[in-house]
Amino acid sequence: MLQVENLSKTYSQGKISVHALRCACITVRKGELLAIMGPSGSGKSTFLALIGTLEKATDGRVILDGIDLTAVPEKLLPRVRREKIGFIFQHYNLIPTLSALENVELSLRFSRVPKKEREERAKVLLEELGLGDRLSHKPSELSGGEQQRVSIARALANKPAVILADEPTGEVDSKTRDSIVRIFKELSEKGQTILVVTHDPEVAKECSRVLKITDGIIKDN
Ligand code: ADP
Ligand code: ADP
Repeated sequence: MLQVENLSKTYSQGKISVHALRCACITVRKGELLAIMGPSGSGKSTFLALIGTLEKATDGRVILDGIDLTAVPEKLLPRVRREKIGFIFQHYNLIPTLSALENVELSLRFSRVPKKEREERAKVLLEELGLGDRLSHKPSELSGGEQQRVSIARALANKPAVILADEPTGEVDSKTRDSIVRIFKELSEKGQTILVVTHDPEVAKECSRVLKITDGIIKDN
């Protein structure tokens, strides 16, 4: 379902080149919960950004759901990203002026789903994540764990082929971390493919597979 073939990324600044990712080859099956670990600067964010089409590969291919993401023309990328990829960030990146419901509904706004249906889908997702009584709360009125659950709902809204989570538990206490990991496990059991960059061995040990990156080289454990 996700195939990474000889994927490489070199950042060049004048005469200096940084080989952030070297020739990565990975196949991820549907429903896998994959942890990506490695020291700071080892290439984890670059790897996620390449799969998320936020960075352009220097070489190699990323094939998601039969689509070669590395061959999609620039102007079609926002749409492919919206329809195929769900992003979850360490700092949630919710829009502070919008309610939980509106934050989730917003990600459906570009789809051709009518407004009533968008609101209903957003509401159901938030209810499933235990936020049924938080629909009209703004991010500042929610705990860290609740904000992260809103951002999980947002990532799920378009039924993405893959969810990319960059340090999703980096800012929460261990109890909240465990509840987020439990949500990821339940989603993966239902067939949702999830890639999680994490420093936390407690998160990694709950994943179905762990990739380790050192100096841009990925090792499959
Ligand atoms: P990690 O997420 O594991 O901390 P990154 O993927 O952010 O690692 O970085 C990998 C390497 O690429 C590092 O040496 C970093 O300095 C470099 N790098 C990342 N982004 C850029 C950029 N936009 N321009 C130049 N170098 C970069
Ligand atoms: P936690 O202990 O789970 O991190 P908090 O102590 O931050 O949670 O918040 C406890 C509850 O109070 C949360 O469910 C949250 O929705 C609510 N809450 C927190 N801050 C505010 C606020 N500024 N306005 C309204 N409700 C809030």
